[in-house]
Amino acid sequence: MSDQSLLDFDREHLWHPYTSMTQPLPVFPVASAAGVRLTLEDGQTLIDGMSSWWSVIHGYCHPVLDRAAHEQLDRMSHVMFGGLTHGPAVELGRRLVAISPEPLDKVFLCDSGSVSVEVALKMALQYWHSLGKPRKHRLLTIRGGYHGDTFHAMSVCDPVNGMHSLFEGALPKQLFAPRPSCRYDQQWQAEDLEEMERLLEEHHQELAAVIVEPLVQGAGGMWIYHPDYLKGLRSLCDSYGVLLICDEIATGFGRTGRMFAVDHAGIAPDIMCVGKAITGGYMTLAATLATTEIAVTISKGASGVFMHGPTFMGNPLACAVASASLGLLQDEPWQERVGAIEAQLTAELAPARALSTVSDVRVLGGIGVVELKEPVDMARLQRFFVEQGVWIRPFGRLLYIMPPYIISPEDLSTLTRVLVEAAAGSGTS
Ligand SMILES: *Cc1c(COP(=O)(O)O)cnc(C)c1O
Repeated sequence: MSDQSLLDFDREHLWHPYTSMTQPLPVFPVASAAGVRLTLEDGQTLIDGMSSWWSVIHGYCHPVLDRAAHEQLDRMSHVMFGGLTHGPAVELGRRLVAISPEPLDKVFLCDSGSVSVEVALKMALQYWHSLGKPRKHRLLTIRGGYHGDTFHAMSVCDPVNGMHSLFEGALPKQLFAPRPSCRYDQQWQAEDLEEMERLLEEHHQELAAVIVEPLVQGAGGMWIYHPDYLKGLRSLCDSYGVLLICDEIATGFGRTGRMFAVDHAGIAPDIMCVGKAITGGYMTLAATLATTEIAVTISKGASGVFMHGPTFMGNPLACAVASASLGLLQDEPWQERVGAIEAQLTAELAPARALSTVSDVRVLGGIGVVELKEPVDMARLQRFFVEQGVWIRPFGRLLYIMPPYIISPEDLSTLTRVLVEAAAGSGTS
């Protein structure tokens, strides 16, 4: 198939994430990828600044992950998880329990991040139901969040970004506290939690859980807030008898410089969602971890079981690659690498602060964000990035990168240079 007929078919028939079928934005055909480089069909290579949305932390075509996939493929790529089990699921479960905060030791394997959020919310609701408190079924979250595209997950996304008005009547109505205003690198201000506490006090009898993205709000605005907010939130949830769900789908597996973002605050949630980087970006997989208390309470409830079980639950191929990816995290100096990326992002993005077009620069771990005063012209800027040999995918007023942990300092410098040029206005006029 020629490049042109591939693009023509794509344009005519394939949805892309959040796009229009009548006014599609340009897409670029990728032929292959290796390390931190994407190779387009026309032979051009791009340095990947996105890790394919947080997931490809070890780079593309990593020999260890390739081997894990091939070996598992030769044994079986899939088998149902109802009534059967297998080594890859057990091995992955063992690794997840070992690296996650102490009380989380029951693992629900599922297909994608959004599903793991659905599972977490359902667990919270079933937990209270089992305790004879079915009234506790609402959720409280903070503005500016993103938890996925399925309906219950959408109900806890930012009401404006998530376009709740569009689905008015179809979405459950949840409660929203303001986005924490205290930045990661500022002095902690306890007032940041006041409205959260007020909402908990007023509504705790109908609240099942508070759900947040710990430390870094991803797709809802790339905001990075203070770890003491999480500490305070943990103790508020305890005092008001409300579960705490931490959505680590973007932040998990080292991206913030610690294995999980909650580790910066030294807290453990009651339920935790992981996804994105879990397979090193090889396949779709996610997991919901919960405490024994939650699992036991649900199991002793009226239904006697947890009411969820996707067809591809515990997919062996995905589990085998995920175990290999967690093995790489265990064996390789990812903490040093992410620390070095953080130092370089901090130094090289700092000059953007002085630009009249820029309103803020934020860095944590392997995440660098330049927030502009005006929204970008996506189509034009995307072409500019590709012309410059980098893959950076902006949204709204945000230019940001979270490269694979294995990126070299030279390649990272290319990403930051082009990003700062874009922030200064190149590619937009
Ligand atoms: C990406 C993301 C999700 C949704 O995951 P999908 O795999 O896209 O369904 C949920 N929560 C957070 C924090 C995310 O970053």
